[in-house]
Amino acid sequence: MKKHNYSAGPCILPQEVFEKASQAILDFNNSGLSILEISHRSKDFVAVMDEARALVLELLGLEGKGYQALFLQGGASLEFLMIPYNLMKIEGKAAYLDTGTWASGAIKEAKPFGETVIVASSKESNYTFIPKDYSIPADADYFHCTSNNTIFGTQMKSFPETNVPVVCDMSSDIFSRTLDFSKFDIIYAGAQKNMGPAGTTLVVVKEEVLGKSGRTIPNILNYEQHIAKESMYNTPPVFAVYTSLLTLQWLKNKGGIAAIEKENESKAALLYAEIDRNSLFNGVVATEDRSFMNATFTLKNIEHQETFDALWKAAGISGINGHRSVGGYRASMYNALPIESVQVLVDVMKEFENKIIK
Ligand SMILES: *Cc1c(COP(=O)(O)O)cnc(C)c1O
Repeated sequence: MKKHNYSAGPCILPQEVFEKASQAILDFNNSGLSILEISHRSKDFVAVMDEARALVLELLGLEGKGYQALFLQGGASLEFLMIPYNLMKIEGKAAYLDTGTWASGAIKEAKPFGETVIVASSKESNYTFIPKDYSIPADADYFHCTSNNTIFGTQMKSFPETNVPVVCDMSSDIFSRTLDFSKFDIIYAGAQKNMGPAGTTLVVVKEEVLGKSGRTIPNILNYEQHIAKESMYNTPPVFAVYTSLLTLQWLKNKGGIAAIEKENESKAALLYAEIDRNSLFNGVVATEDRSFMNATFTLKNIEHQETFDALWKAAGISGINGHRSVGGYRASMYNALPIESVQVLVDVMKEFENKIIK
């Protein structure tokens, strides 16, 4: 039986992507060869890489605006380090907004490079909201933020206006909502939450911000090298890139980000309405900062946990246990999760209430 997969990442991808990716493992483009056994320099794979890079810019509305899309390795976690390496000047300064575990991970990696200014943090409240009143030092080499806090279930609904370059970790909400992406100078995202399998990281970079740090950057960590080599500095993760391309094509065929955004809004509205209505659950984070991708909620009475868990498991729901640092439940509603799956969860929550209240 196919599960209703609420996993936070790696996570659900479209069924047709699973099918096409499986086919390419057996026979890629009717070549008689598997995608796993061909050269990454072959014409067929270079075409995959080129189309994936172009489609990223097209979907984000960044074509012809001085941006490059790269498919790298090392996960979003390596970008925590590549960002300061490439952007922070020697004895420079970077500004960070601390909205959760991933944001603070990024701060930690930047510290050895220079001064890191934490412009605001919601750590004291276990990251249940997005700080909004803060100022970014005008002399910072860049400002770093995390658009969606996967673990805590908060999401930035607006971004600060600033003259310093803006870097954003969009790992868990890239391609899920329309934004003016040209306000960002670097966007990065591990593939495994809305784009493809683990193993590749998308980096979208405005070329004009590069080459200014004055640092000697190892080639493998240097964005300019990866741009010059068209994401083929070394062997790329071919299967992860190919599967990401399939997801990007799926998204384009659906009508792009604007179309999926509507679906994501409906899914989130359906689930949050039930969290608010149901007398047995509490939401975890500030209402205005609720994430449309990862909804966190807890039981009012922990003694009911066994009953609730048995119900959602019986309904074929998978992956809704909360992260260990938050507890409770987390329902991740990435692009590929159908609204029917959300309805199944909502029905289970109602059934649970009827059972307990009688
Ligand atoms: C998952 C996640 C990361 C870490 O990604 P890796 O690819 O595992 O390094 C970083 N930031 C955010 C917002 C995430 O959701």
